[in-house]
Amino acid sequence: MRIGIIGAGQLGQMLGFAARNLGMQCQFIDPTPNPPAAVCGPVTQAAFDDSDALARLAASCDVVTYEFENVPVAALQKIADRVPVYPPPAALGHAQDRLAEKQLFLQLDIPLAPFHRVDSPDDLEAAVAKLGLPLVLKTRRLGYDGKGQFVIRRPADLPVAWQLCGGSELIAEQWVNFDYEVSAIGARNVSGQVICYPLTRNEHADGILQTSVAPLQDTALTSQAEHYISALLEHLDFVGVLALEMFVLGEQLLANEFAPRVHNSGHWSIEGAEPSQFTAHLLAITDQSLPEPRLLGHAGMLNLIGTMPENLRLPAEATLHDYGKASRPGRKLGHITVIGDSATARDALLAELRESVTESIPVSGTVP
Ligand code: AMP
Repeated sequence: MRIGIIGAGQLGQMLGFAARNLGMQCQFIDPTPNPPAAVCGPVTQAAFDDSDALARLAASCDVVTYEFENVPVAALQKIADRVPVYPPPAALGHAQDRLAEKQLFLQLDIPLAPFHRVDSPDDLEAAVAKLGLPLVLKTRRLGYDGKGQFVIRRPADLPVAWQLCGGSELIAEQWVNFDYEVSAIGARNVSGQVICYPLTRNEHADGILQTSVAPLQDTALTSQAEHYISALLEHLDFVGVLALEMFVLGEQLLANEFAPRVHNSGHWSIEGAEPSQFTAHLLAITDQSLPEPRLLGHAGMLNLIGTMPENLRLPAEATLHDYGKASRPGRKLGHITVIGDSATARDALLAELRESVTESIPVSGTVP
């Protein structure tokens, strides 16, 4: 089986390793020279919407997928009549626009924080009147890792927020005083079979994921999350892995956003579950049966951001993943997974690792 992957970053690399274990061959398109996934297969250095490169990929692969959320939908649609493209380009379209995404949550009865579309300074005033302060102003498109976001805390912030963000299509969201954040990861194959991973609890700093732990031991929240993710997978006629990020407020889940791809908060599954999210994605897009995920312990994942730690001594329960990327503040360069026999053992391992890893502090309040 030949898999074409648009994007050759760390997600492409981890897909490539999983593909190798399944006896599949991967080839990639990516505009950057020597990207992380180059160790897994040939990379055509081209823009994500380069029609010639995409046509060649379509001609030489059995199925095409993507690891990057901002691939232009129109570019995927152009090759979708020549080769199966999964997840379906229409699903990607929903995820690329925060407004369409939130309207979809409403349509599917998935609870979320109140929001308001903002196209003008008057809309922003109306958003403050409707949602109160603080609120989060976000660009509707092309945001990731908290980029393209501005927290408005007091009326005096409004002109600055508009100066920095105005000009893009925007959305204002009510500030959620959440207890903690979780993500639900699910997969659906071409035949419609669905599997769900247990809920993962996530910690972010300045919009960037720092740590994840799984499984979250809360059966009520887990079954709510399974219900929401299954509704999304079915409605979008989705094929592949989808991650739904949510806020937890008491006993309630509020959807934040979904990613139509393998997700950073599921990296623990490489060592912590069988199949991993990467294997599940490949099985799903090649229409193979999806085994119910079997947990191999209590997993924790720590992102390595900005600089790779030097002379790190890892305990036997830990695995280091180095994506082979150059250092840059705020950049995800690798991660470490730990597997414990219990949640307490896992948390202790993670706390110890956190102490020994020097993280660059990402710049806060980033705007596009
Ligand atoms: P996002 O890019 O929407 O995933 O946001 C990145 C992170 O910013 C989230 O994981 C939260 O930690 C925080 N955040 C985003 N939206 C809100 C909100 N409405 N209320 C509180 N925190 C938020």
